[in-house]
Amino acid sequence: MRLLLIGWLLATGVAFAGEPKPCVFCEIVAGRAEAAVVYRDERVVAFMDIAPHNPGHVLVIPARHAADILEVPAATARR
Ligand SMILES: [Zn+2]
Repeated sequence: MRLLLIGWLLATGVAFAGEPKPCVFCEIVAGRAEAAVVYRDERVVAFMDIAPHNPGHVLVIPARHAADILEVPAATARR
């Protein structure tokens, strides 16, 4: 049970001090974290992966925070 709670705290970004940890993807969307952005519109942001699996590895993320793919609006996911 303790391991599940620790996993939940890490996954949700809740630090042990009670302060929420910033989401790195939201920081990239907001321009507060460095990223090589290759595309941006009102729904998505695409940027080069910092640990690419192959040349040209790009991550495409929703412009609004989503904890997982199920939280991404359908209009954004099928874009
Ligand atoms: Zn986020």
